[in-house]
Amino acid sequence: MSNTQLEDVIGEIEQAIEWHQSWYRNLLRSLIADIPADDQDLSDNAHNLCRFGQWFNKLPEQTLNLHPYFSEIASAHQKMHQGAKVLSSLKESNSAIPVNLLDQFHTDLDSLRDYFEAINDELYELLHTRDPLTGATNRANLVENLQKEQELCKRKSLSCALIMIDLDHFKRVNDEFGHGAGDKVLIALVKCIKSHLREYDQLYRYGGEEFLVCLPHTELEGAKSFSERLRAAVATLKIEIGNDKHINVTGSFGVALINANDDIETAIERADQAMYQAKKSGRNRVSVA
Ligand code: GH3
Ligand code: MG
Ligand code: MG
Repeated sequence: MSNTQLEDVIGEIEQAIEWHQSWYRNLLRSLIADIPADDQDLSDNAHNLCRFGQWFNKLPEQTLNLHPYFSEIASAHQKMHQGAKVLSSLKESNSAIPVNLLDQFHTDLDSLRDYFEAINDELYELLHTRDPLTGATNRANLVENLQKEQELCKRKSLSCALIMIDLDHFKRVNDEFGHGAGDKVLIALVKCIKSHLREYDQLYRYGGEEFLVCLPHTELEGAKSFSERLRAAVATLKIEIGNDKHINVTGSFGVALINANDDIETAIERADQAMYQAKKSGRNRVSVA
């Protein structure tokens, strides 16, 4: 999902929360003041009839798959409406509303709102930490994230490795085939790198055609052989740039460890220096700090 689509989803969720707030205000008016309940709220199907329910039922699969909480929302929303129906029915029959039912209704309402806030917080985070072109993580929280990894590794006396990757002669790709083709190369590169990563490895777009990989719980030797495999995989990529044309690229890799008492910037600098060493020694190779 592109960042623009993600922004749209966030906006829709905010709108949906507002709809529900205004629904809640109306419900409260009918419960407290001498105003008849809305027929819709007295229906067993109220959760599908409300504006929010109608919107939710039409959400595309792609949006629903964005977050596991979406599946919780359907049942939380239905439960909340069932509670509202009981309250409205009691009011309609001029019966007193037991306080435990009112409390339960508010708990259900809060839980629905919590789900939405949790989803939106995470989507916001994703939007602000993701490079829109490649989907790699951007540098916004890079140092902070690596500091956390360093702490975790320190506690377990394990190593954490960094790999700086810079495409070789990438300017030529742009000059020869155009910026659009260059973009396709970057997208293909990230896809290739991601396919080699484990669940807890991290990939950052460090600069234009520079990427930084963090491999937690990895020694220098492991990071070196991983980089060698990745280098070979990148070199064999055949990237389609349209009109049946394909191009190949290579990258230079610099490997360094984050030491226990390192400044993160210093560790990154070491990986960067190792990468420059790989460039100097002829490119399309791995160099270790
Ligand atoms: P070297 O092997 O020494 O790294 O050579 P290079 O040409 O890769 O290095 P240089 O730093 O001179 O060029 C990097 C190029 O990357 C220049 C810039 O236009 C291109 N670039 C940076 N970001 C993007 C992007 O988002 N899309 C495209 N298509 N090109 C980009
Ligand atoms: Mg560069
Ligand atoms: Mg380069």
